[in-house]
Amino acid sequence: MDTGIVVVGASLAGAKAAEALRAEGYAGPITLVGDEHERPYERPPLSKGYLLGKEEREKIYVHPAGWYEEHGVTLRLGVAATAIDPAAHTVALAGGDRLPYSKLLLATGSSPRRLPVPGGDGEFVQTLRRVGDSERLRAAFRPGARVVIVGAGWIGLEAAAAARTAGAEVTVLEAAELPLLRVLGREVAQVFTDLHRAHGVDLRFGAKVEELKPDGVRLGDGSTVPADVLLVGVGISPNTALAEHAGLTVENGVRTDQHLATSHPDVFAAGDVANAFHPLFGKPIRVEHWANALNQPAVAAAAMLGKDAVYDRVPYFFTDQYDLGMEYTGYAEPGGYDRVVFRGDVAGREFVAFWLSGGKVLAGMNVNVWDVTDPIRELVRSGRGVDPERLADPAVPLNEI
Ligand SMILES: Cc1cc2nc3c(=O)[nH]c(=O)nc-3n(C[C@H](O)[C@H](O)[C@H](O)COP(=O)(O)OP(=O)(O)OC[C@H]3O[C@@H](n4cnc5c(N)ncnc54)[C@H](O)[C@@H]3O)c2cc1C
Repeated sequence: MDTGIVVVGASLAGAKAAEALRAEGYAGPITLVGDEHERPYERPPLSKGYLLGKEEREKIYVHPAGWYEEHGVTLRLGVAATAIDPAAHTVALAGGDRLPYSKLLLATGSSPRRLPVPGGDGEFVQTLRRVGDSERLRAAFRPGARVVIVGAGWIGLEAAAAARTAGAEVTVLEAAELPLLRVLGREVAQVFTDLHRAHGVDLRFGAKVEELKPDGVRLGDGSTVPADVLLVGVGISPNTALAEHAGLTVENGVRTDQHLATSHPDVFAAGDVANAFHPLFGKPIRVEHWANALNQPAVAAAAMLGKDAVYDRVPYFFTDQYDLGMEYTGYAEPGGYDRVVFRGDVAGREFVAFWLSGGKVLAGMNVNVWDVTDPIRELVRSGRGVDPERLADPAVPLNEI
């Protein structure tokens, strides 16, 4: 007997899974359980247009308010799933309810990491994950406010851009030598350093944060950087507690196969929490980006309904900072490439960068150059060697390489 499908995590991946199940023709009960009080919304605007006050709240939601009822999807919001029992096929909720399921999707996403230093858990320390975080920061980003951001990753840099745009004084403290060094490597990380310095951000590298205090950050050299607003953006951890306690295989997220099935055949995982085997790369990868949470659920939904669906999309993400917009397509690990090739005007921040290994393109990033993700994706997917001279030459169309 079909007791229905339960999705834990009512955000982008969860909402897209419900949509995909109905699109696949599934007519049984679907319940979306989420511990936030909001209906599913998208997070990228929280550090961009919504944080800047340019985007309306209504625009952030995945579906209009009436969509869930219209599609027979039960929303259980503001309630956490506290345990899953794969043998009994039940999900326990805070408050005592127990939901039966035939198939379960874990779409629990991830949570911001805290700094393991004195004050790291302080209430005055802000993180940026939920819509309320974005609203608090927007109110605090005012002309002259001293904003200190720990971590020069995507969230830290996007928040720095929003704070500067609002007229705040911004200091970014980063432990590494450059921003985004692990993701982009030295060559491209420099572009983001130059961008933020040109906009008046005080970027400090090699910073050793010793303590977070309500009035600032104490560094290893004994100095304190004064702060009216203190934001920590030092990465995220996948929300794997439910899976771990249920005995599912958890390794850097919930391990799944290429169909997004976990180590229990009736439990699936998608989005930030899933460390999914990727046929193109021949190993599991966990992608903490919007496009992955958008697209994986269709595969999980089809697989839950017994269809032979495989997730093999080339990873993709984007960022907007000041007047720089970029898209990154592919997957280049730190140390996994041997050459970076630029095409276009790097100093003018209008270019494409390619990460190569053995002459093959692993990833490409277009900065203020548009409509090139299709040929970049094809270059990555083909796995064929390319001529770096032609790759670097803007006169040679990308789809002819
Ligand atoms: C500020 C910000 C900006 C971003 N910008 C970009 C960008 O520009 N480009 C890009 O590609 N990506 C971006 N991302 C990343 C992107 O938003 C994530 O990859 C995406 O949100 C992942 O979706 P998800 O549904 O897998 O997980 P999440 O969005 O993390 O949602 C998981 C949901 O599950 C809930 N939950 C967890 N455990 C339980 C439980 N036990 N019971 C009930 N509910 C639970 C959580 O509270 C949350 O609501 C950004 C993220 C943030 C925070």
